[in-house]
Amino acid sequence: MDLEFSDSEKRFRDEARAWLEANVPRTPLKSGDSREGFAEHVVWEKKLHAARWSVVSWPAKYGGRDASLVEWLIFEEEYYRSGAPIRVTQNGIFLLAPTIFEFGTEEQKERILPAMSSAERLWAQAWSEPEAGSDLASVRSHAERVDGGWKVYGQKTWTTRGAFCDGIYGLFRTDPNSERHKGLTYLLVDLNQPGVTVRPVERIDGDESFAEVFLDGAFVPDTNVLGGVNQGWKVAMSTTSSERGLSLRSPGRFMKAADRLVDLYQRRPDPGLRDRVTRAWMDAQLYRLYTFQTVTRMIEGGEIGADSSLNKIFWSEMDIRLTETALELLGPDAELLGGSPHAVDDGDWMLDFEFALAGPIYAGTNEVQRNIVAGRVLDLPR
Ligand SMILES: Cc1cc2nc3c(=O)[nH]c(=O)nc-3n(C[C@H](O)[C@H](O)[C@H](O)COP(=O)(O)OP(=O)(O)OC[C@H]3O[C@@H](n4cnc5c(N)ncnc54)[C@H](O)[C@@H]3O)c2cc1C
Repeated sequence: MDLEFSDSEKRFRDEARAWLEANVPRTPLKSGDSREGFAEHVVWEKKLHAARWSVVSWPAKYGGRDASLVEWLIFEEEYYRSGAPIRVTQNGIFLLAPTIFEFGTEEQKERILPAMSSAERLWAQAWSEPEAGSDLASVRSHAERVDGGWKVYGQKTWTTRGAFCDGIYGLFRTDPNSERHKGLTYLLVDLNQPGVTVRPVERIDGDESFAEVFLDGAFVPDTNVLGGVNQGWKVAMSTTSSERGLSLRSPGRFMKAADRLVDLYQRRPDPGLRDRVTRAWMDAQLYRLYTFQTVTRMIEGGEIGADSSLNKIFWSEMDIRLTETALELLGPDAELLGGSPHAVDDGDWMLDFEFALAGPIYAGTNEVQRNIVAGRVLDLPR
């Protein structure tokens, strides 16, 4: 086994590091989930794109660098290491785009991908509905055939950054006589049109990017059907595989968090928590090695498949353990948020912990992922 990077991969890392060190905003941007912060983040994403760092693993013609998956992971490590802003383009570039690469027509790739990589058009994921969360096949939103496309009706909920994005992707029942997984179509819906009402859902931290989306006859042209009419389930499973597997949560994010935790421990040592800090750091390294192993398998022609559920359980629970350890190191000071003169690390650990708590819920709950692992990875009886 060779765990060394090649010379060209090392050069790639150096180039990414140098650019990020010179360009990452010195002052942190406002939250990407607030209206003002979202706009600041879009400016940053455009800058990334102008220097061709927004989607490194994509073909150059869509704004990328034709980088390998290993180089993409290297870029991610450098991105998080540099403290660069979170990616508000995330649910487009990491979830929708891989699905477009797999199922999109050439026309769709040429129309949608460049505008996505340049942050001209941002996409939100609209799977969940009031009666369809874990059980996605029970979606009630539907589409009716009209000249040149479809009119869509229904309600989507928990749409991350739906309040600020330009479009959503989701499943709609296109065959009224179908049930469950059959008769669904994957549609890309423009939010800026009549028949769409977006209502922000204010979060506990006051941010308002979460949204409910009400659809009442909005138009979706045939050119925005992804992967064929009534083929939506298969297409959606490709998106969820990206979400739970490789692309949504790369190891760089947790390596950076683990390094911050070690740094916090060094400033506020507590021997009783030393083992947990060490464990958190080792977990992040382990996740990194596991991810490189997965990527190696993919380069050799393998697939992620149901392993992505295992992956999702691991990173989401690791994140909770890590941030919880930080709160224990901080003791009562953990309650001091940004703005307080006594807040440690600007109060970020509490916000990180709160967000980590959502990890076992979004991208498919961990209970459901455990069902998938039991059945499809371990082959246990039902
Ligand atoms: C921070 C955050 C961001 C999100 N962003 C988005 C987004 O951008 N787009 C989007 O579409 N959705 C988004 N969601 C919604 C998320 O996908 C759903 O909350 C999730 O799929 C669970 O669905 P539900 O809330 O309807 O819960 P339910 O499906 O009603 O589940 C309730 C409980 O029952 C358990 N349960 C359900 N079925 C089973 C089963 N078969 N076996 C064992 N246990 C079961 C679940 O694990 C859960 O604990 C987001 C959620 C969060 C927290």
